This record gives sequence, C-alpha cells and structure tokens, in this order.
Amino acid sequence: MTFLRAPFLWASNNPFLAHRLPRYGFVRRAVRRFMPGERAEDALAEARRLRERGAGAILTMLGENATSAAGARGVVDHCRGVLEQSRMNGLEIEISVKPTHIGLDLGLGIAEENLRALIAEAAADGTKVWLDMESSGFVDRTLELYRAARAETPQVGLCLQAYLYRTADDLEALLPSRPSVRLVKGAYMESAEIAYASRKDVDDAFRRIGARLMTALGQGEVGRPAFGTHDPAMIRHVAEVGERAGVSRERWEAAMLYGIATREQDRLLREGYSLRVLVSYGTHWFPWYMRRLAERPANIGFVLRQLLPG
Ligand SMILES: Cc1cc2nc3c(=O)[nH]c(=O)nc-3n(C[C@H](O)[C@H](O)[C@H](O)COP(=O)(O)OP(=O)(O)OC[C@H]3O[C@@H](n4cnc5c(N)ncnc54)[C@H](O)[C@@H]3O)c2cc1C
Repeated sequence: MTFLRAPFLWASNNPFLAHRLPRYGFVRRAVRRFMPGERAEDALAEARRLRERGAGAILTMLGENATSAAGARGVVDHCRGVLEQSRMNGLEIEISVKPTHIGLDLGLGIAEENLRALIAEAAADGTKVWLDMESSGFVDRTLELYRAARAETPQVGLCLQAYLYRTADDLEALLPSRPSVRLVKGAYMESAEIAYASRKDVDDAFRRIGARLMTALGQGEVGRPAFGTHDPAMIRHVAEVGERAGVSRERWEAAMLYGIATREQDRLLREGYSLRVLVSYGTHWFPWYMRRLAERPANIGFVLRQLLPG
C-alpha cells in the first residue's frame, strides 16, 4: 500500500481537507487512536500513566506555521504553562515543538527568543526542549536555530531525518557542539533529488547514522540520543552497536508515538531499555494525522471502521 503514501502526504498540505474532514465524527473518533485527547490535561494525564508504566513522556501541542508573532508567543506561553503543570505534578515531561510553530517562518530572531523562553522554563525542571524537524525547506534555518540555542545551553535537542542525503554530513558538522539528537526516518514528502525514496535505502541510512550516533555516544561526543522509531530492526541495530561501544542502555532512549507499537514499547521496558512516548494533543491535528496515515496506510481500515454503527 505504499502507493497511498503520496496521496496522504498531499492531503496533509491541503487547506480545504484540513477544514472539512475534522468536522466528521468518524474522523474525530479515528484520530483518538493516536492522541489521548485535544486538551493539555489529557496529555498530562497520559504522561502520568506512562510514568506508572516506567516510561517518560514528550508532549507536543500540534500545530505549525504560526502566522503572527503574537500567535507564536501564544504557543510559547501555552507550553510554559504545561511545563509548569508538569513540574508541580512531578511528571518531568520534555516538550517537542515545530520550529515554525514558534515563529521560524516569521524570522530567526523571533524563533530564537521563543525557544529561549521555553528552554528557561524546561531547565527549571532539568528537562529538555526538542526541536522537531519539518520539511526540507526548513532544515537550514532549524539547524541555525538549534546551533544558537545549543551555544547557550545543553537543555535543547534536535530531530534529524535519516531519509535526507544531507543528514550524515549535518550530524558530523554538529558533533563538535556535543549535540542531543533524536534520529527518525522522516515523515514528509521529499523529492528523490534530496531524499532516499525506497524503504530499504531509508532503513540503511537510519542504521548508518544511528550507528554513528552510538559510537559518538561511546566516545562522549554527544548528549543522550533518542531513536524515534517503531521499527524493532532499527532499535536492535543501534542497541547492538551501543553494546559493542560499551554504552549502557540507560544512556540512550527509544522514542515512540502514543498509540503505536504498544507491544514493542512494553517489550523494551521489560528488557530494561529507556523509553519515551511522544504524546500529541491540540485541535490542529489534521496534517499530523495525515502523516500518520501515510506511514501506515493500513490505518485507513481503522478510520473506515469508525463509520460502522457502534
Ligand atoms: C518520537 C518521534 C518523534 C518524531 N519526530 C519527527 C520529526 O520531528 N520529523 C519527522 O519528519 N518525523 C518525525 N517522526 C516520524 C518519523 O519520521 C517516521 O515517519 C515514523 O516514526 C514512522 O517510521 P518508523 O521509524 O516507525 O518506521 P516504519 O518503517 O515506518 O514503521 C515500522 C513499523 O512501525 C509501525 N508503524 C509505524 N508508523 C505507524 C503508524 N503511523 N501507525 C501504525 N503503525 C505504525 C508499523 O508496524 C511499521 O511496520 C517522529 C517519530 C517518533 C517516534
């Protein structure tokens, strides 16, 4: 069903569908599989449940492309409130933000200032702010944003996408700053000129870059890395490289999305791996949800089942 990936990724950028589809009850019911609810309280309650299971949580308020400085600042104020709630409840969550949600589209200076405010709030709890990586047009500016923040503090992490040809070089260029990196396969529609297209090539790139991250960790060259994947073969590979490099399991973490591969999540926890689950919430879920369907078009069966009478 890989032929369905492109239409879902196209839909993720379609304003008409983004406006219409979330109004249908069956679509709203289907999205609940990937998010515990639209409110921050729902995500914080899930963070508490994850803690009881022995896993950490990364919270992310869905949204992208803030269109005004005030809108971007509103996102920051909201996230600071969530971090404060987390601190008051001893949840130790991390947060992850899309650079364009905190104003990258409006100017690097705005995004830098907003990121600084978020990091200050997270640092009070000793936790980290992660920068998601969006589509390829934002990579250079996101790296710039990350570098500026990393020059001031280690409480910031960056997502890198294995499917981009450039990523191995980007990682090498970042290594002198001892970065904290979350490696993922990559979720956007990119052309074959800049990104691997076949599953095998993307997996091979993930293995190569993941191995590089692990050996760098063994040599003390990176902060605690995260491997954001539900693919057991990828986790197995980096775990093996880590073992050979003398890296113990608590020095890196696997990161997965809420509602996906829960059996694999339980297995990792049982076997003593560190796991963080990324919990999304908010009303702006349509583009993000289309990317989840693109990753596994078989999920459409679940959407269609919501049409049947309960
Ligand atoms: C913590 C985290 C943070 C992320 N941050 C970013 C980011 O900032 N930028 C970015 O571009 N991408 C991000 N992603 C998404 C990532 O790029 C992939 O698109 C996504 O993780 C699917 O790839 P996979 O590694 O799980 O492997 P795949 O090969 O796609 O999947 C492996 C197996 O996992 C299961 N699976 C995977 N996806 C789904 C799904 N949607 N529904 C049901 N089962 C599924 C299936 O069983 C599948 O066979 C993030 C992912 C995670 C887990």
